[in-house]
Formats: sequence, C-alpha cells, structure tokens
Amino acid sequence: MKLSFHGAAGGVTGSCHLVETGGRRILVDCGLFQGSRELHEDNSAPFGFDPASVDCVLLTHAHLDHCGRLPLLVKRGFRGQIIATKATCELARLVMLDAAHLHEEENRRHAQGALRRGAQELEPPLYSVVDALDTAGRFGAVADYGSPVEIAAGLRATFFNAGHILGSASVLLEFDESGRHRTVLFSGDIGSPGRPLLRPPETPAAAEIVVMESTYGDRPHRPFAESVAELYDAIDAALARGGNILIPTFALERAQELLFFLRQGIEAGKLPPAVPVYLDSPMAISASEIFERHPESFNPDVVDLFNRGKDPFKVPGLRLTRERPESMAINRISGGAVIMAGSGMCTGGRIRHHLRHNLWRPEASVVFVGYAAAGTLARQIIDGAKRVELFGEDISVRAHVHTVNGFSAHADQAGLLAWQDRIGGKQAIFLVHGEPPAMKSFAALLKVPRVEMPRLHEEFEI
Ligand code: ZN
Repeated sequence: MKLSFHGAAGGVTGSCHLVETGGRRILVDCGLFQGSRELHEDNSAPFGFDPASVDCVLLTHAHLDHCGRLPLLVKRGFRGQIIATKATCELARLVMLDAAHLHEEENRRHAQGALRRGAQELEPPLYSVVDALDTAGRFGAVADYGSPVEIAAGLRATFFNAGHILGSASVLLEFDESGRHRTVLFSGDIGSPGRPLLRPPETPAAAEIVVMESTYGDRPHRPFAESVAELYDAIDAALARGGNILIPTFALERAQELLFFLRQGIEAGKLPPAVPVYLDSPMAISASEIFERHPESFNPDVVDLFNRGKDPFKVPGLRLTRERPESMAINRISGGAVIMAGSGMCTGGRIRHHLRHNLWRPEASVVFVGYAAAGTLARQIIDGAKRVELFGEDISVRAHVHTVNGFSAHADQAGLLAWQDRIGGKQAIFLVHGEPPAMKSFAALLKVPRVEMPRLHEEFEI
C-alpha cells in the first residue's frame, strides 16, 4: 500500500490523503488551504496526483478545509463517487456552493482591476458554482455510522461518529493485499466529549495504521463551563460599555452552539432578555436548518428539547440576516448588539465589514471562539496587532479582544491522547492537521513503534 499526503501535512488546512492499493486509488478528504492570500496559489497548484485516476473520495466532514477542493478535483477530471454521511452530504453541498460563490466574486473583482491595468487574458476562478453543483452530484453511497460501505470488491470503509461537527466521522478503510488484511484509520477531526449539542466521539475499531489530526496536540482547553461564563462576561461587559460584541463565527456547528448558549444564558438570567442578536451569515442560517433535520446526531438533552417542541437555537432577540442590505444596515448600530458573522478566521465574509466598523471602538468587544490559523486576520488580532488592514484601510485595534478557546470543536491534548489510547494496538501513526510545534509535542507523548509527520506530497510505501 502507498500512503501519500497532499494537504494538512505540516499545517492545519487542506486535508487530502491518498491510499493506493492493488491499482485502486482512494482519496480521503480534499480540503481547501486557508490562511493568508498567497494560499490561493497553493489551492490552484497541482494536487500531486492525477484527479482522473482517483476511484473514490471518502469525506470525513463538511468543513471547508476538508471538502473545499472537491469541486477543483471534479473540474480536473475526477469522475468517481464521493462517500459521506447524510448530514455531511447536505452540509458539504452548502459549503462548496458558498465557496464557489466567493471564488467567483473575488475573481470578478480581480478581473475588473486586471482589465483596468490593461490585461489581455483573465484568470478563471478556482472553481465556479457550476463545478460545485457537479461535485454535489457525485455524492454516491451514503455512509451510516458503524455500517461498512463496500467501495469495490474486497475494499470497504466504515464511518464512526467523530463528535466534531454534525455528520463528522473517523473512517476505517479495510482491504486485502497480497493475502494480508490491511487496516488504515483516518481520524478526521476529533471532537471532545461533553459538548452540548453532539454525541461524544465514538471509539473506532483498531487499525494497524492511524492517520491522526493533532490541531491542539500541545495544549489543554479551558473547561467548557468556564468558557461559557467567559462568553457571558464578555457580552455583559461590552453591553455595559455601550459597545457591540462581534463574534467571528464558523457557520457550521459553532454558530448553532453559540445560539444554544445565548438562549440558555438569557433563560438563566445571565444575559439581558432583550439583547439583539444578529446571525449575519446566510450559510449559518441554512446550516441551522440542516441541523434541525438531523436530531439523531444530538445528545439526549437536546433531543428532549426538540421533543418538547422547544427549538434549542431560538434566541428571543434573534435576527437572521440573509440579504446584503440587511447586513449593511447592521453597520449603523454603534452599540448594544451581539453580531455573529463569518468567516471564523476573518479571512473573508461579512465579519470583515463589522470589524471595520467596530475594531477601532474602545467600547466594543471581539470574541474569538474558534481556531485561527497562522497568517489569518483573526490570528493577527488575537496575537495583539495594534493596527490591521481591512479593505485597503488602516484600522486601529482598540476593541477588547477575548479568546474563548473552550468552545473548540477539536479535542485538546488530553482528548487526543485518550482517543488514541482507546484504539490501542497501532503499528504506525501519521500525524497531520497540526502546526509543527503542536505535532512535535504530541508525537513525544505517543507510545507506539512509529510516528511520522509527513511533509506535503510525501509518499510512504507500507
Ligand atoms: Zn473540521
């Protein structure tokens, strides 16, 4: 078997791993590289393999850094099926369409500038909405947790609940090779137990080779209850100062989780009952609708709420803004509102407009509740930048900045170790989806015969 790594190798984004056995090629995830603008080149670079030669894609979950290059894979010749859980198929369709729309918009903006500079030829977008729709049409067999899917004769994949976002999975690939039974487990992104909405991660079956994420391999998260209290405090303090509270939000999971906590905080009297909350993200609004169609993924308390006719995401002062003029109207609110908008790492989306209107106000607060990759605007602000550039303008950072990391959809160091320990009996672990310091710290804790930290496009014959 040959295993090669074409993304999230020595970094956190762009997950894309290829397994080759007996003339068949199975790709696990095909995510977008995210971070500073130069990454556009990383995304449009050759994959490191011929897309037309891939037989099948197994998709662990719908985050952009796991599914965001699938339309490019199809555009460049992939004609097989994509296998994922039902919720992942629905969410990934939304995520890919949104990404395609953003690529088209950005491309149009660049094209206008290029034409004004006298360019004769224009670059096409990374992929179009049509490519994304074509890709959505490639979703084939639906994987149910725990039931093996026969990909081809003697080759099967089993999806296990990874407890990371709705529909997320770890995937076990099994096949026979030269009379030997081989097993490779891809962790996908691993969630942590004790989250409010989702069931905790399951323990997948043991495997001889494990390809494992290591995002938070070097640190613990703050306890969940502390993080919720910190969120309420940050909101109360900004309201008392007369400022807005901006929460850069990942549209999947985090937005719904935040709504869940805001509703709880208001019900428990920890937040004022009439606080206006704007969910300024068409994608988060659509994702919330998909969430409500999959109560089977929620933990029993949330299912109970649904059964009692209560919507766990319904905040009294909630305003959903899909249309752009509604979003622009929020810019006129100088204080007293909670504004949730994407993207979570502030690399694009409506949050950048809200940051432009609020970052310079000392009474405002920006609350980061998710991972911010190196090179992103979110990371610059978290790291204490005094000034940042937004829409070509130099903006001073005077708002209060909070980082509430206990909301992470990823397991922390202890959670990753516990997950690895529960599987047991491994021959080799390949660490991916981590920045080098996190990976190295985590590697030092592993008690297995072989640990690898592959470089981009590195191949292993095993
Ligand atoms: Zn993820």
